Amino acid sequence: MATVLLVEDEPAVRLGVRLALERAGYRVLEAALAQEAWSLLKEAEVVVLDWMLPDEPGTRLLERMRQGAYPHLPVLMLTARAEVRDRVEGLSRGADDYLVKPFATEELLARLEALLRRAGKRKVLKRGPLLLDLERMERAWKGSPSP
Ligand code: CA
Repeated sequence: MATVLLVEDEPAVRLGVRLALERAGYRVLEAALAQEAWSLLKEAEVVVLDWMLPDEPGTRLLERMRQGAYPHLPVLMLTARAEVRDRVEGLSRGADDYLVKPFATEELLARLEALLRRAGKRKVLKRGPLLLDLERMERAWKGSPSP
């Protein structure tokens, strides 16, 4: 089963989501801060990312991921914002999907599964520290893109 990185600063939400994910068979890594999340990204196959974090906005972390070593790691954003322009902003900054709080854990699980299914259709080979994206002709070594 896939490894999910859960980035959420509210302990009650984090606990609820973690239990639901573990019950569904996922391995869960947790971070309450964007800074903690950064070092765990290399182990993650999909990321659940809260927008409002104490140290920096989730959208900022997402931008750093997309510009850096994680251009294609699937990200589902969580937010209390329901405005259309906020959703558009989250998606335009590189989120693959979007869920507005409060949400049903069943919906979160269904969306994660869909994200992983889509990601699985890309031909990515992972062998230890080496990651080869055959479709995009990109490769990465220990999480960093290599020329
Ligand atoms: Ca938050």
